[in-house]
Amino acid sequence: MNNKIPNRIGLLTSGGDAPGMNAAVRAIVRTALTQGIEPFAIYEGFQGMVDGGDKIRAINWDGVGGILHRGGTVIGTARCDDFMTREGRLIAAKNLLENEIDKLVIIGGDGSLTGAHILHQEWTGLLSELVSTNKISADIANRHQSLLITGLVGSIDNDMFGTDMTIGADSALHRITEAVDSISSTAASHQRTFVVKVMGRNCGYLALMGALATGADWVLIPERPPDSDNWEELMCKRLIAGRKAGRRDSIVILAEGAQDRHGNYIGSSYVSKILEECMGEEVRVTVLGHVQRGGSPSAFDRNLGTLLGHAAIETILSSSHDSEPQLIGLRGNRITKLPLVDCVAKTKAVSKAISDHDYEQALSLRGSSFEEAFTTLKTILRTLPHPPSPGQRRHRIAIMHSGAPSPGMNTAVRAAVRIGLDQGHIMLGVQNGFRGLISGSISELDWMSVNGWASLGGSELGTNRHVPSGSDLYQIAKNIELFNIHGILLIGGWSGYESAFRMHTERTNYPAFNIPIVCLPATINNNLPGSELSVGADTALNNIVDAVDKIKQSAVASRRCFLVEVMGRKCGYLALMSGLATGAERVYLNEEGVTLKDLQADVNMLITGFKSGKRLGLLIRNEHANEVYQTNFMCTLFEEEGGDLFDVRQSILGHLQQGGNPSPFDRIQATRLAASSIGYLIQQLDNSTNNSAFMGLQGKEIMFHNLEDFPRMVIRDKQRPKEQWWLALRPIAKLLAQPVPGYSTMDQEPQK
Ligand code: ADP
Repeated sequence: MNNKIPNRIGLLTSGGDAPGMNAAVRAIVRTALTQGIEPFAIYEGFQGMVDGGDKIRAINWDGVGGILHRGGTVIGTARCDDFMTREGRLIAAKNLLENEIDKLVIIGGDGSLTGAHILHQEWTGLLSELVSTNKISADIANRHQSLLITGLVGSIDNDMFGTDMTIGADSALHRITEAVDSISSTAASHQRTFVVKVMGRNCGYLALMGALATGADWVLIPERPPDSDNWEELMCKRLIAGRKAGRRDSIVILAEGAQDRHGNYIGSSYVSKILEECMGEEVRVTVLGHVQRGGSPSAFDRNLGTLLGHAAIETILSSSHDSEPQLIGLRGNRITKLPLVDCVAKTKAVSKAISDHDYEQALSLRGSSFEEAFTTLKTILRTLPHPPSPGQRRHRIAIMHSGAPSPGMNTAVRAAVRIGLDQGHIMLGVQNGFRGLISGSISELDWMSVNGWASLGGSELGTNRHVPSGSDLYQIAKNIELFNIHGILLIGGWSGYESAFRMHTERTNYPAFNIPIVCLPATINNNLPGSELSVGADTALNNIVDAVDKIKQSAVASRRCFLVEVMGRKCGYLALMSGLATGAERVYLNEEGVTLKDLQADVNMLITGFKSGKRLGLLIRNEHANEVYQTNFMCTLFEEEGGDLFDVRQSILGHLQQGGNPSPFDRIQATRLAASSIGYLIQQLDNSTNNSAFMGLQGKEIMFHNLEDFPRMVIRDKQRPKEQWWLALRPIAKLLAQPVPGYSTMDQEPQK
């Protein structure tokens, strides 16, 4: 008799499907295989667990190949009433035991995770009942006395405690912003009003962030119902005033769970009727519905699913047999785990607070960034700023860019201008980066001058990489005095940071430079110190991932390897993260360098792969991975060595990476960072201090670093920070894309 206890894990997706679930499935299966655990897919969620039979099947490395870009879930999901009963769960337990599965990873919403928790609690009881009724042998029961569970939140609603982001929420926001951007352009042409209803059940995240990202004019969410009973009147007054101030369209975003402060449901037809009466024009309603769930997952959701899936297996490996179920989540850019039961309880507490009309509690349970976003939104969607208070010191704050254009720059300017004006200050726009500061192309920006900038790619103020030196500095000092500039917000990349630092070090020579300067990170390269993510990097990543998806599709019926070159200067962020999101089997980074030995090993890897049936190869190379072994060289080398076995094509993505409208994440981040930077400048000026800083996100927090620390925190000749958090993800990218011997033949989807 074979006494070896099988080491098996069951994985299932349950409840509403969400883009990014497939990335999690792939990561769970592949990480399990590399750790010697046999993964079993449980098809159609808990229903498959109850049905058993061929709904529970072993799944191998190739079974999860070529699924990263697909929406939904390839292992199916369902809602299952049987599982709500103990009898149903008894059958489910029997099916698990028959397959010798005593570990589960469940990807679903709070309902599914509640179900998982209940199964865990009942496990011992279910086991004894199954033994006493002879449904399973005592031997099997003895082998699997405990059930280990980890949960990942797959839900577009982002409604779960224990993670900043749920798998699918970012993709849903992509769909919402695309839709609202399109609606805005037609609405503006006809001067129309639109009500756009978005999903989210009783969570207002999608509506709130959708409004923040698109520059909508009004938002209604469950956690923060309108303050007054005559909210309809107030909404109408605001929208009419907006039109008078020059807005050509009016967009109201309505969360599906929106209610008034007495708990009465607010429906889209009601809002539309009210608006038609007060605006005296036809109002169109768009219910976005399942479009929000569909489509290819965003780069963020692919990587989130991948990292959480990988962490789920690691968590199971480090658990003891009596470990409580854990929820794997994300805080900032770090993976966290918390007891699942607490997360479910806290999530339910928000729903309860809403149904008890305790909105303050509901809002605070959603967390500080949700509240902060609501406050910012309330300011920037005003029709006009609050007038300055009598006797207030009005500061003159200049806003400018420096560096290559980065999507989200305009969004940041819009937020900064409106927040500054609303607090009574004078906002100045500098055209064309440092060249404009040198030539004096500086003018006042008013409230409506930044209208519509939330969703606009490129850089309306203009930007370039000029770093001032010599007589430039004298001109800048002169203009600072001439235009009476009290502080500067610099939204840009490396050249901006270098220039600001130069001005800072020249303070003794140029007294005019004794003003506070804040550098807000905005570059697709994500190569700035003091910020884990810079504005624009997420958009570029999505641009790359879209392009690579298309490139992969173009390889029909051929054995082909693509070598894709991406931007980033000497920072490999875009290369690594796009490699992770597209399943590239090799990523070349300047941080690691490339040697001839590496290239030889890669040739061998490709030959072995294609010989054993692989049809498609994908390699991603940072533009400066190695100055000698350039993309063209590598391509020719691989092509020559591939002989008749495979051919190689290179694709240098170029400027498409910088273009397009900013992604929702970049818009939200740009708004958040701009609000914080303006706050910092105003505080310095109110206190008559002149500290200068560079700032950004670190974990979940926004941090400011003294500008003097710039040289200490960077490798200057490589133009990147000394600390790069994402380098820690390299082993995961490698592990998931390069097949484990004996488990796989190919990574990419077989071509038909
Ligand atoms: P989501 O997981 O997206 O919140 P649902 O709330 O519909 O979706 O839950 C999905 C499935 O999880 C349900 O159909 C059911 O099988 C199971 N489930 C939900 N709540 C429970 C519960 N309280 N007890 C047992 N199973 C549950």
